[in-house]
Amino acid sequence: MPSPLETLVKILKLEREQGCKDTAVIGGLSAFGEKWAQEARAQARRPEHHLLIDELVDLLSRYRGVENKTERHKSVTYMLDRITGRVPPPAEYQARLDELRAALPRDEPPPVEAPPEAQSAPPEARPSRQPAPPPKRRDRDKPHGGQPRSQQSAPRGGKPQSSSEDEDDADSGEVRYEMAYDSYEAPVPSGGSSGSRAAPLDLPPPPRLARPPRHPRPSMTPEDARKQWQMLATNLSDPRSEARLKGVGPAMAELLARLGIVTLKDLLWYLPRDYDDYRVMRTISRLEPDLQVKVSGTIISTQVRAGKNGRKDFYLVLDDGSARLGVTFFGQHYLSRQLKPGQQVVLRGMTSRYGNQIQMTNPEWDLLDAEDLITPSIVPVYGLTEGLSGRALRKLIKRAVTEWATPERLPDYLPEATLERADLADLHWAIQNLHFPESQDHLHHARMRFIFDELLLLQLAVLRNRRDWQATAGQPLVVSDAFLETFIQAVFPYELTGAQRRAIEAIRQDVSRPIPMNRLLQGDVGSGKTAVAVVALGMALANGKQAALMAPTGILAEQHYRGISAALANYPGEQKPVVALLTSALTTGERESIYRGIADGSIDVVIGTHAVIQEGVDFKDLAVAIIDEQHRFGVEQRAALRGKGINPHLLVMTATPIPRTLALTLYADLDLSVLDEMPPGRIPIRTRVVQPVQRERVYQFVEQELDKGRQAFVVHPLVEASDKIEAPAAVEAFERLKQVFFRYKVGLLHGRMKPAEKDEVMAAFAAGQFQVLVTTSVAEVGVNVPNASVMVIEGADRFGLAQLHQFRGRVGRGEHPSYCLLLSDSSAPEARERLVVMEQTTDGFQLAEMDWRLRGAGDLLGTRQSGSSKLQLAQQMTPQLVELAQREARTIYEEDPDLTQPQHMLLAQEVSLLHNERSEIS
Ligand code: ADP
Ligand code: MG
Repeated sequence: MPSPLETLVKILKLEREQGCKDTAVIGGLSAFGEKWAQEARAQARRPEHHLLIDELVDLLSRYRGVENKTERHKSVTYMLDRITGRVPPPAEYQARLDELRAALPRDEPPPVEAPPEAQSAPPEARPSRQPAPPPKRRDRDKPHGGQPRSQQSAPRGGKPQSSSEDEDDADSGEVRYEMAYDSYEAPVPSGGSSGSRAAPLDLPPPPRLARPPRHPRPSMTPEDARKQWQMLATNLSDPRSEARLKGVGPAMAELLARLGIVTLKDLLWYLPRDYDDYRVMRTISRLEPDLQVKVSGTIISTQVRAGKNGRKDFYLVLDDGSARLGVTFFGQHYLSRQLKPGQQVVLRGMTSRYGNQIQMTNPEWDLLDAEDLITPSIVPVYGLTEGLSGRALRKLIKRAVTEWATPERLPDYLPEATLERADLADLHWAIQNLHFPESQDHLHHARMRFIFDELLLLQLAVLRNRRDWQATAGQPLVVSDAFLETFIQAVFPYELTGAQRRAIEAIRQDVSRPIPMNRLLQGDVGSGKTAVAVVALGMALANGKQAALMAPTGILAEQHYRGISAALANYPGEQKPVVALLTSALTTGERESIYRGIADGSIDVVIGTHAVIQEGVDFKDLAVAIIDEQHRFGVEQRAALRGKGINPHLLVMTATPIPRTLALTLYADLDLSVLDEMPPGRIPIRTRVVQPVQRERVYQFVEQELDKGRQAFVVHPLVEASDKIEAPAAVEAFERLKQVFFRYKVGLLHGRMKPAEKDEVMAAFAAGQFQVLVTTSVAEVGVNVPNASVMVIEGADRFGLAQLHQFRGRVGRGEHPSYCLLLSDSSAPEARERLVVMEQTTDGFQLAEMDWRLRGAGDLLGTRQSGSSKLQLAQQMTPQLVELAQREARTIYEEDPDLTQPQHMLLAQEVSLLHNERSEIS
């Protein structure tokens, strides 16, 4: 297997062959550099390796910004020459190297010759300033390359059984210091570094893991395996349960329950939200200001200090052997009880400059176990709750994983053949490595297995739903050509687009069958989905039946109500349909009366919010139900709506462009229509990516538009996926922009407002009561403000392209030329490059595809709201993996649709769990 440097050499050569167009790796060399650095650092053994890596990473990160081909070519050649040692290191590196060498002991034996026993010597036995042994020296003791795959990794056997039970020896004083120097164990050969042997050749073979290892399955009857799973699903705190864990008493059980952990299975599946990789952590001496970093070290001293306004701050000094760092926790004096001198901690947060020093303020902190530092490894970081420390939860999960994530106790529910075909890890192995990964490779394979499972189970559940649903009859509707033509002529003042006609035809086919329709209509903002919806409603009316349309917000429902009532006023024939609006804004009396009309059939079309599916709403004969902007609806709501009729025909509309493959997975039970053609006469929205320094000019431009009588949106990103932060960020921006646009009225809309408040603000904006709307991503949902002509998006680099596109669709809805201005927080060239695509294309699907490739599926699935560990995983949901899961699901389904074969027994159980959780899917 190639070392990181070999890999880089290959890539650089390829890049040169391809004409230096930054095409050698997907995503470009700059992005690649970041990932590569991690691997390379993990394996670097000497100061000069680290310096070389630093230099290369620096060059790689700048590569994207190099415009000129000749310069790129030069850069690539230089990198190659540096790796192969043909050119000496730059002068400043030489100086740093000398510094580093001076700091290192010179009398250590070279690692290769070190007796294997040395590695298990307790740290105290070593001279204190001597660096710790390399974490994975055993890798070097094994032969590399060409060995059978089963031996390529020893996921369980190899790892020295850590002394995790006696963490309490954490007070062994200055156990060790130089985590980041841990790989420097070799003495630097005297003489010039650019000597005969170039540095990279000394790199030890990397602990790579190309394929996950497969373990033989224990012989176990399906029935025993099922029992085992049942055990995992019993309550952790149930004294009768066999699946109990030392350390979980009633108090702990309560803390865990707050995290949603009730059973042992929940605990095993409680994934880290992040990992601290102690092998690649920065040393304090290398910190720079304004960086998000993690550092670890020993607390040297602590102090409670009087801060501003009588506030009491907690202050500590951290030492990691390379330098010391001052850390202030504003107002958190109580930390003095938890953080004491001599303890080892890890801190995560932003660095800043204080005078000429680098400091940290209010970082996230976690106590460390000495072992994490002695054997630098990848340590999980879990979401916590008050009263439960990271260390305590880690310890508990470690115990759970050690005791329960074994082939016998966690029997795999996926057939071996599937794992074999898809080259996936065993379940127990995946769980082990999701929590305590041995290397980034191990983590990668573990995640792949996990995501694959999510996708596969989802697919199987969806396929099963589809079957269930096709088994229940629906009412066929008769829709003649003559009716359709007359209806369309009468109702719309324009010609339908070809795409609209195709969608309508597909819907007609669907509703004419005795199986209920289940169709997804995807169409970019402004593609005319409403018209298609109106025709679908018309199909119910033509048959003397009722129809309903649900929108995600009151104001959207109202907008639909006005538009659709007006359209249906032209309904061909004497009898005009009766249309009612049902939202939570109604008085009880009004509501009651609408309920009656719906029940006795005097109301033909109901338009509303989720109020439409509430208790008490009883349709006489609901034949067609439509859901607009479905991604805002939970699936239960879809199911509830369904339950309102005798299986109504269902049309779900969305403007979120989801790549086809993904759509087919997520909505495999839905038929798909796409409006891929825009109504004519739309003036394209002009989009520009703007540097933050030009913000003033952006405001001037906005003001010019306001002077013309137009309106503007200013969108701010959620700083984090937390409402708590969203509101203040938007409020702050609001206060500032009020000053900027002091001649105009400015409004504010954010996700923390109540639905009624939101509606009020939107309605006032649409009515022109104020000119600038400051908002967060809630602006995504489609309210029509035809007079709005500018969309300014702050922090645009934090949004996915598809989402930006969605925002952009809020303008350009009237006759005015419209503009979208993207301000990026990041000066990184790749952030800008990604955004520039927005200037070039207006095709939402293309943008969504790109998003998916660049950022994973998280943005597209709207998982921003859900747990961050899920999000992390969703980001790694690649098209390849989706396709793989799809293929495997189909294979299993074809072979055994009801999952009744013994080897599918556990799988069947998992699928029904999911099925119950997501009954919404169909
Ligand atoms: P969306 O797909 O975003 O819901 P709408 O249905 O709101 O789009 O349509 C956007 C605008 O385009 C509306 O003003 C609608 O009247 C208009 N429109 C829809 N279809 C056509 C068409 N075929 N020709 C011209 N205008 C159309
Ligand atoms: Mg719409």
